[in-house]
Amino acid sequence: MKVANSRENMVEVHNLTKSYGGNAPAIRDISLTLKRGEFVVLLGPSGVGKSTLLRTLNFLVRPSSGTVVVDGQDLGKMSGGQLLEARQRIGMIFQEFNLVNRMSVLTNVLCGRLGSLGFWRALTYSFPREDQERAVRALERAGLDDPEMYMRRADMLSGGQRQRVAIARALVQEPKLILADEPIASLDVIMREQIMDLMAGIVKRDGITVVMSLHQLDAARKYADRIIALSAGVITFDGPPADLSAEVVARIFRKKVEAGAADDDGTAVKMADGNG
Ligand code: ADP
Repeated sequence: MKVANSRENMVEVHNLTKSYGGNAPAIRDISLTLKRGEFVVLLGPSGVGKSTLLRTLNFLVRPSSGTVVVDGQDLGKMSGGQLLEARQRIGMIFQEFNLVNRMSVLTNVLCGRLGSLGFWRALTYSFPREDQERAVRALERAGLDDPEMYMRRADMLSGGQRQRVAIARALVQEPKLILADEPIASLDVIMREQIMDLMAGIVKRDGITVVMSLHQLDAARKYADRIIALSAGVITFDGPPADLSAEVVARIFRKKVEAGAADDDGTAVKMADGNG
């Protein structure tokens, strides 16, 4: 299943298109290469195809055409079992956390190991001791170092804590790639910053590639190594945050460029500071 690719490339996408039913394609003929250890933000307002593109990278959404190669493996050529195995090395984080509310924090994190267990162990949630130790380490790495919390039901936690549990669940997979779909959209401003700091640390310290969909321009600017902006399913900008001019931002968010213009979702488009 391995295909030739450059060792420093984590993801290679070629001519990717996804249409839902008979509608216009949500993403159209997208090709891009993502390097190892890059923090990539897919930026744009709602409905431009960020989530669709993100979810094709682990085939949670199957593309209508085109190829996705992750870590040298062509996902489109895999059997169901091989795809599950490949997904074990791709963590995923969601806006609404996707935890099992009635389960403990620790069990939620251990769910990240389910894909690596044999059938009977997975069926009975019988996790080996080393997985439990991995889960505790992942929780600590995600900033939850109070063991008293580990046995609490997930729904007893704040939003920020729940997103940390979801990040720990991704980390316990020992992934090379983490996909994060609007991970801060349900959080308040302080929590947003904390979660973005954590994700940036995961890229820098742990060397994991992170691809994150976001509609918050400020966070994208502050944390991303590379911003890929989408409009109507095609890439309209691809580069470092420093190259995002006010005009480019205005185009991405379809806003007029006005001195001092600002709004509540962080998509302020200002000419005054010269770089939007
Ligand atoms: P974004 O993440 O930028 O908000 P999405 O990828 O969610 O964009 O959506 C892109 C387009 O695809 C939108 O027009 C949306 O309505 C459509 N879409 C997304 N998911 C589905 C689906 N499961 N079924 C039908 N249409 C969908």
